[in-house]
Amino acid sequence: MEFELEKIQLDLKVTWKISRNASQSKTNYILKLGEYESEIAPNVRYQETPELIEKHFKELNKVTKMQFHWCSSFQTAVNNVLLKRDHKGDLEKALQLPKVENVPTSFSIPIMELDEVENYLKENAEYQVYKLKVADSKSLDLLKEVVKHTDKPIRVDANEGFKSLDDYLAFEKEIQGFNIQFIEQPFATDMVETYKLLKPKSKFEIIADESLLLDFHGPKFQEMFHGINVKNMKGRGLENCKKQLEKAKAFGLKTMVGCMIESSLGISEALHLASLCDYVDLDGSLLVSNDPYKHLLKVKDGCLSFAD
Ligand SMILES: [Mg+2]
Repeated sequence: MEFELEKIQLDLKVTWKISRNASQSKTNYILKLGEYESEIAPNVRYQETPELIEKHFKELNKVTKMQFHWCSSFQTAVNNVLLKRDHKGDLEKALQLPKVENVPTSFSIPIMELDEVENYLKENAEYQVYKLKVADSKSLDLLKEVVKHTDKPIRVDANEGFKSLDDYLAFEKEIQGFNIQFIEQPFATDMVETYKLLKPKSKFEIIADESLLLDFHGPKFQEMFHGINVKNMKGRGLENCKKQLEKAKAFGLKTMVGCMIESSLGISEALHLASLCDYVDLDGSLLVSNDPYKHLLKVKDGCLSFAD
């Protein structure tokens, strides 16, 4: 049986602007093996490009085992499609995790103009928690505008945008009275000492995203973060993501499952991990206007379930 690769173009409902870039669409791939399929959502943050995925794919049918120079999102799809084949598509059984349903997900608010916020929140009022993308302390006005129009909890994701501890702390001081659930990845991954200084001072939980890839150093992460954001596409597949979440719990860290811009194929894989998580952030396919796998998931009152 041969692997096949299909390119898909996901159009975004709104411009996806975060601290490092802005985009209107996303190129992903579907990796197929017989009747089984998995998704590859390459991320430029990790030097993953469509060209690289197509290059890896040319090697895939020639080799018999995983090549560790393949980028994470590609390895994710290879591992997940093999897992599905080996367990006849039953990921609950494969992962030995309970069936989940009605899982509340946060819904992202990308960086946008202030006068767009009210309408965006009205259009997406069914979600129980929002995740606001910020750049740095200059995004304070955007956060103020959001809390003006909703009293729901807000997760704040800076995507490494803050350049110094002082800049972050000044921002934090201004937002102390807001209903903030946590702050995700305020600084670059190499600002280890800054994270260590921040953690004991911060009024909010600090969650690692970009700082976590395949694995993490437990004691070091305890010093830097309150929790971790595990993603299928960074973690090289569901089995390793499950291990990451269990390890995080063993170190007393909060757990979260997140995603990239993905169709409901990738999101439905990650949803299997929800029972291991304190926070679920699986809105990737909800931001897409032409999701080819929409039929796999149901969304009701801001909660995700597998379609029957
Ligand atoms: Mg993030």
